[in-house]
Amino acid sequence: MKLTVDQDLCIACGACIDICPEVFDWNDEGLSQVIVDEVPEDKEECAREGLDSCPTEAIKEI
Ligand code: SF4
Repeated sequence: MKLTVDQDLCIACGACIDICPEVFDWNDEGLSQVIVDEVPEDKEECAREGLDSCPTEAIKEI
């Protein structure tokens, strides 16, 4: 599973980072970014919860 955060859609609410900090973290611009190349299997559930929690649908599976 690979994810990306659309920087044009992220409103920096922090939900994905609160839910799954092993996969999402703040970047230098204060927006969320994906910090792993490939989501480890044991983090897929929280990554998906993070994706589902995004209010602007900025997180996409690629
Ligand atoms: S949940 Fe969506 S809008 Fe909120 S910080 Fe994460 S990517 Fe950005």
